[in-house]
Amino acid sequence: MSDGTNEVQPKFDTLAVHAGAAPDPATGARATPIYQTTSFVFNDADHAASLFGLEAFGNIYTRIMNPTQSVLEARVSALEGGTAALAVGSGHAAQFLTFHSLLEQGDEFICGRQLYGGSVNQFNHAYKKFGWNVVWADATDPSTFETAVTDKTRAIFIESIANPGGVIVDIEAISAVAKKAGVPLIVDNTMATPYLCRPIDFGADIVLHSLTKFIGGHGNSIGGIIVDCGTFDWMGAKHRYSTLVEPNASYNGMKLAETFGNFAFAIACRVMGLRDLGPAISPMNSFLILNGVETLALRMAKHCENALAVAQYLQGHDKVGWVSYAGLPDNKYHQMHKKICPKGAGAVFTFGLKGGYDAGVQFVENLNMFSHLANIGDTRSLVIHPASTTHRQLTDEERTAAGAGPDVVRLSVGIEDKDDIIGDIRQALEAVTA
Ligand SMILES: *Cc1c(COP(=O)(O)O)cnc(C)c1O
Repeated sequence: MSDGTNEVQPKFDTLAVHAGAAPDPATGARATPIYQTTSFVFNDADHAASLFGLEAFGNIYTRIMNPTQSVLEARVSALEGGTAALAVGSGHAAQFLTFHSLLEQGDEFICGRQLYGGSVNQFNHAYKKFGWNVVWADATDPSTFETAVTDKTRAIFIESIANPGGVIVDIEAISAVAKKAGVPLIVDNTMATPYLCRPIDFGADIVLHSLTKFIGGHGNSIGGIIVDCGTFDWMGAKHRYSTLVEPNASYNGMKLAETFGNFAFAIACRVMGLRDLGPAISPMNSFLILNGVETLALRMAKHCENALAVAQYLQGHDKVGWVSYAGLPDNKYHQMHKKICPKGAGAVFTFGLKGGYDAGVQFVENLNMFSHLANIGDTRSLVIHPASTTHRQLTDEERTAAGAGPDVVRLSVGIEDKDDIIGDIRQALEAVTA
């Protein structure tokens, strides 16, 4: 974020409230308005020509950018310490546009297999149609990334806190592999949020979020964002990232990386990816998510405090076989948690019931305040029993390999009072007879 001046950089909580926003120049509105419009009037023909030619920045059409969305982009970019960002319709759209800017047919990217299930599907199936090949590595063992590098490797992708197993990933060690291979490191920071972890400080080049989860934080809007860290030298890169470095036929032969320097990646995702593929975020969702960002620090601190209390309670319960939460001192990722995200180990984790599958079903059915659903990162406490829901179609072996064995319950601990959260868990465990 340093721009070479000596101005004092505001701290995280201040940026979360103010970055990118100013009173509306037309009306003085203090909150960022919802610019609910498809299109924007040009000043004159020359202005229109310069906007279309990328010689001036400005709003044209809400598929490509919108003023409410721009504030959200500036806000999240500031929190991550990036140079620019692009907000889109979902976390999956952010991943899709990122790879669309990086890969050609036949190219590969290496990915830690400890990953959000929807991303596993996107990478294994949807990307095949584009000729983009995922090569799986083990996010807990950086050397597996090194051995997976080939002359077709164009990127490495990991999650900072891997969903749902609560694995805390050594971003710095994997960044060293990416640097040696001459490819950018992409970090999905959804579970940690920039409050707990800033991947750029550990060598990330591109940071992605599903804004749907903790950043929006209220379970009301789907969104995603691509943050350009401004760290990767596209023009000087070992490999040819053609979207960034080739003369661009739709922009008068402009080379995006040459013209836009350390925010060229965000521009490429917008003017090539979003313009042509179209997964735009709505102004309404940008507004709702922006409201969520303002309280990110308060919410994440409470989420983590509550999650630790719940994990400690569960660990002492005689119907519970194991608890996998990096905030507990005996957890195998506890040291990595101290290194990567010392303010907290997140609010999503799994535990196992001694009574197996039937106990898992009884437990979720007896909870009152927890909502039984397939989401995380809401103000509300959420629960799912993967074996009877999201992983139902798999065999027992496949489920266990995916960290979704019959006894596994996943919690996303909310920001309610922790006595009420634990009270609900206590009475549901009492009702378990299996
Ligand atoms: C939910 C999620 C995604 C996908 O985001 P959507 O907004 O649902 O498209 C990607 N990564 C992680 C870690 C997620 O939790």
